Amino acid sequence: MGREVRRVPLDFDWPLNKVWEGFLTPDRFDEEDCPDCRNGYSPQAQNLYDLWYGKLSFDPASTGSTPFRYDSPAVRARAEQNVSQAPDYYGTGEAAIVREGQRLADLFNRAWSHHLSQADVDALIAGGRLYDFTHVVVPGKGWQPKDTPVRPTASEVNEWSLRGFGHDGINAHVVIQARCEREGIEERCSTCKGHGSIEKYEGQRAEAEAWEPIEPPKGDGWQLWETVSEGSPVSPVFATADELAGWMSDPARGNRWVPPAAAAKFIEDGWAPSFVGTSSMGVMSGVEWVGHHVADEK
Ligand SMILES: [Zn+2]
Repeated sequence: MGREVRRVPLDFDWPLNKVWEGFLTPDRFDEEDCPDCRNGYSPQAQNLYDLWYGKLSFDPASTGSTPFRYDSPAVRARAEQNVSQAPDYYGTGEAAIVREGQRLADLFNRAWSHHLSQADVDALIAGGRLYDFTHVVVPGKGWQPKDTPVRPTASEVNEWSLRGFGHDGINAHVVIQARCEREGIEERCSTCKGHGSIEKYEGQRAEAEAWEPIEPPKGDGWQLWETVSEGSPVSPVFATADELAGWMSDPARGNRWVPPAAAAKFIEDGWAPSFVGTSSMGVMSGVEWVGHHVADEK
């Protein structure tokens, strides 16, 4: 993410800050919504999905889980936190904490996502999820597996799911998929084969997959592009690198101003490795200081 230099024709006139059309997937690849599903699941799998999020009536006993109570430690902790953060809303004191604890317990008890079975947990571990339990962050290396493999219990994971962000959509999918397999349920919608949409004509999907972005035309001009979106020009087209550097280091650009030496170095790096400009990573690692300032330019 950042800025890169592109060499474009001198008369290239694509509007500034508008994503170059060649980078965007054409509308002709949009498919029809599937008439028989919402997101590619079979009716049975859709039920599981709704149970996961508490949109269908869920019973903790169905997964062998125990309902949370207002005074379950993890519920109580959340209730205390909520009350202390907004006393004007919740009121204060023990009564407010108990009331909020009961509300939270009722909420948590309505969703499968807070009442996983051990088989569900095992599926998540097998799917490379639950890093909070199985991995540790090592400085400079990121997430690393723990020396001794960990198999958290269902109740540990369910308590964890009450804190912080809990499960994401990928976890939901992993658990639903594994349960369908265990119970011999077809997971995917038979109409759309799990895509959630159907082709407007035969071969549309294959065409979409074969589609590749079209680069802007190349030429003798010098132009600054942002790559925070798919990519759009953010400067006029200049005839020389020096002119572009001059534009970048023009004090009139206010907080987008880049020191002249840094601009020159950035343009040199942005051009040299691959003709149409380096990736933003190249800019970042090559001239970190420049990259820093350039990345700030939003
Ligand atoms: Zn479908």
